[in-house]
Amino acid sequence: IVHDDGTVSFIHAKSFLPVRMLRASERQRILVTGGAGFVGSHLVDRLMLMGHEVIVMDNFFTGTKTNVQHWIGHPHFDLVRHDVVDPFMIEVNQIYHLACPASPPHYQYNPTKTVKTSVMGTINMLGLAKRTKARFLLTSTSEVYGDPEEHPQKETYWGHVNPIGPRACYDEGKRIAETLTYSYMRQNDVDVRVARIFNTFGPRMSPADGRVVSNFIIQALKGEQLTIYGDGQQTRSFQYVHDLVDGLILLMNKNFTEPVNLGNPEEYSITDFAEMIRNRVSPETPIKNLPATMDDPKKRKPDVTRAITYLGWRPAFSVQQGLEETIECMDPMQLLMHQNTMY
Ligand code: NAD
Ligand code: UDP
Repeated sequence: IVHDDGTVSFIHAKSFLPVRMLRASERQRILVTGGAGFVGSHLVDRLMLMGHEVIVMDNFFTGTKTNVQHWIGHPHFDLVRHDVVDPFMIEVNQIYHLACPASPPHYQYNPTKTVKTSVMGTINMLGLAKRTKARFLLTSTSEVYGDPEEHPQKETYWGHVNPIGPRACYDEGKRIAETLTYSYMRQNDVDVRVARIFNTFGPRMSPADGRVVSNFIIQALKGEQLTIYGDGQQTRSFQYVHDLVDGLILLMNKNFTEPVNLGNPEEYSITDFAEMIRNRVSPETPIKNLPATMDDPKKRKPDVTRAITYLGWRPAFSVQQGLEETIECMDPMQLLMHQNTMY
């Protein structure tokens, strides 16, 4: 990619959505917390290609410098190693607040730290937004609906979360992050946006991530048994990361402050999903059932009427298309390096 100032960047991704280049007067200074992670790095790519100035703040707990290395040295890009639990001073116009581990094995590794990241981290970023008058977008989650009794889930549903279970550090952390966001909006006039993100996958998911899409792809590529937790009848709805990035940027730049679901309503049982990946990658590979994990939601599917109505957004990629690209982008060297570190 050749930028308007003559610099050149290389991006390791097959699919590229069109971007509208901004005039200099439209350029924003944007902070992306957690920008070295899976979703964050794709968001950074898009914001950089649009011509914005982007500052990534990350403590590299689950993210890596490699995810954004192609921007290092670009005059519009900065990368800061910092923990969002500690205050951070900077002048910006927009804040995308993503910093938080998202995979169950990662957020359950140190649950207290996960709560601190969601609570103290979100307070710090909302405080920054209040001082700088920056617009603030929280990446919340479908997990705020817990093990839902309403299906599909609309934004008006209040959820069904076990407050003391192993997932609570993440679910309740995000719920309080939403509460904080709307408290700062009402009390301090902070201009806020809340995205409730449903299961997302794509290139750059770490092989050690532990979430179902990367686990199944890696297991199938290595010819190892695909591991289904429980009976496999639980469902998830998977969206491709480029659709999510579209939705996040649209939400940030529209005038809509209520929470918005961003997800692909294509719903699969985990068994069907395992068979689909196995059949695509390595049809001989067996599938095995392991014990279910505690409080695993039984079904999940977004109602995206709000995103369609207020953002004009709907997923453009099918799950199949996304999987093709994700499988093709899986780096065999990474597979070797993570031979024994699967969760
Ligand atoms: P990820 O683990 O790949 O990225 C999270 C990033 O945050 C990493 O770069 C990590 O190093 C950084 N981070 C974690 N704790 C931090 C801290 N205390 N200080 C600074 N940086 C910290 O996860 P992801 O899938 O890219 O998720 C990004 C955001 O989207 C998260 O907030 C997550 O809750 C939300 N989300 C993601 C999904 C999904 O399916 N990917 C679904 C719902 C919500
Ligand atoms: N899962 C599975 N095998 C795996 C990883 C996950 O069967 O190797 C299941 C998990 O129990 C859940 C679903 O896949 O029902 C999605 O899990 P993931 O960790 O990707 O995300 P979650 O939606 O649970 O946060």
